Amino acid sequence: MKTILEIQKLDRQIRALKREVEHCPASIDFKNYKRILQEGRARFEQLESQANEIIKTYNTLMNRYSNQKGNSEIIRKRNVDNISLDNISSLISDANSLVGDLSEEHRRVEDLVRRSEEIVRKSGELSNKLTEAKARSGSIKARIEAKKQEVAPKIVELENKIKELEPKVQDKEKYEKYKAMKANGIFPVYVPLEDNFCGGCKVELSLNFIERLKTKKMLTCEHCGRIIMYDK
Ligand SMILES: [Zn+2]
Repeated sequence: MKTILEIQKLDRQIRALKREVEHCPASIDFKNYKRILQEGRARFEQLESQANEIIKTYNTLMNRYSNQKGNSEIIRKRNVDNISLDNISSLISDANSLVGDLSEEHRRVEDLVRRSEEIVRKSGELSNKLTEAKARSGSIKARIEAKKQEVAPKIVELENKIKELEPKVQDKEKYEKYKAMKANGIFPVYVPLEDNFCGGCKVELSLNFIERLKTKKMLTCEHCGRIIMYDK
């Protein structure tokens, strides 16, 4: 059992080194880089669909505009010499409503132009930001690689120590279980009893459990699956 606990201690150091790589500033930069890339892509899609919407609206407006221009031609072509006084007021009201419609359309088109300009500007900004992020990604990866290279020999050293210890393990079955649990992400596998709490997940253990633990010296925590040791 003592040897397994020694191996566990070495495994803990290996994990700490690996975590050091995962949490190093370069790895955090890389995560940020990926997030910027992802958000950027989503934003591009959003801008693209907004642009498509604007093009559709623009086409509709242009159709309406050309219809109204047709109407203005009809009004212009009415023979003013033959027009009766009765018809003048309807002619004026037609012309007025046409002017109103046209200025309304004009306002809408201007609004569309403003929105398109905004989209072009935002896309430009976004594209600059992404280009900048991509340019930096190479150096970020190199920094992560350097960090990996830095810890690699230490990990090899620890792994060799484990290899030296393995033949000395007496309870092979227990060691196999240790390795299996470690592979399943349960680590540390063996934890102490801390007061009345599991030394792994810190859950409070029942008195009944503790009584059984005192007799058996080792029991699996019902909450986290780790093996709690009682060594008094
Ligand atoms: Zn536990």
